[in-house]
Amino acid sequence: MKQGTRNIRIAILGLGAMGTALAQTLLNKGITPLVWNRSEEKTRNLSLQGAVACKTSTEAIVSADLIVLCLLDNGIVRHLLEPDKLQLEGKILINLTNGTPGQANDLAAWAESARCRYIDGGIMAIPPMIGSADALIIYSGNEEGFNIAAPFLNLFATSRFLGNDPGLAALNDLALLSCMYGLMGGFIHAAALLKQAELPARSFVPLATSCVSGMLPALEQLAEQIDTRTYEKDVVSNLQMQAVGYRNLLDTTEALAVNPALVAPMHKLMLGAIAKGFDRADLSAIIEVIA
Ligand code: NDP
Repeated sequence: MKQGTRNIRIAILGLGAMGTALAQTLLNKGITPLVWNRSEEKTRNLSLQGAVACKTSTEAIVSADLIVLCLLDNGIVRHLLEPDKLQLEGKILINLTNGTPGQANDLAAWAESARCRYIDGGIMAIPPMIGSADALIIYSGNEEGFNIAAPFLNLFATSRFLGNDPGLAALNDLALLSCMYGLMGGFIHAAALLKQAELPARSFVPLATSCVSGMLPALEQLAEQIDTRTYEKDVVSNLQMQAVGYRNLLDTTEALAVNPALVAPMHKLMLGAIAKGFDRADLSAIIEVIA
């Protein structure tokens, strides 16, 4: 860590599973954070290790130069930052609370009026990963503030700054959540089908892992087709054929008395794209139905 950075006081507000992992990481790296949590008992273990527990969020905010917020939602963030007499001028706010691009833009505009630097972040990791380079946190907003904070932020995870638009991190975070829930939802539906045949989900993991990893390179082609709107370029699995296979998935779901809620919408979208004339196109063509 650079000379001078050591004088920066850092506060973590919110000691849920994630905020605790962030504070613990700083302690593990020899940095003493100020910590605050609504329920005071979550500060205890950290203060036994040297963290400075603050009685109020205001105390933590006014005592720190760099304030990391990791709370349930941005309504709470706003509430904690807005007491009338709170002096925020010159401070750097790193908001790691999951939120929307609109909320990030509003908070950034508000921070500018309070003369502090706002950086929004999206944590692409679970708490046990924090402190390792395998964890990724994406950031956007005030670049100068990010560069000052980076030596600390790099202790949490690999940091990636996406740009000055404050909403970029939230947008990419939510886009990644979309990928994640698509995958997890698909797996849970698969497990429900197997359960009806008394097959444990665990037995399916090796097959699912190898098939899903094999498909990842296909994202490049889908992206190229989407960006250039050339859905019929280099097609090896046309939509008409995919819709027939998907119908078999739905029929089997029904036959096994499994709720189709996780998978049914995709079939409707396939049929919608086919109705628009994309029967010989790739799956990417369904973007024409949704956006
Ligand atoms: P938790 O549910 O474990 O913690 C929530 C935190 O918000 C606690 O500190 C809680 O305080 C606080 N809080 C809730 N309501 C209020 C309130 N009204 N006023 C003040 N504080 C309040 O969540 P996580 O720590 O897991 O998540 C925190 C953020 O990190 C979220 O935005 C989440 O999306 C993000 N994140 C979490 C990941 C994970 O796997 N856990 C992964 C990636 C991102 P109290 O202890 O008093 O209830």
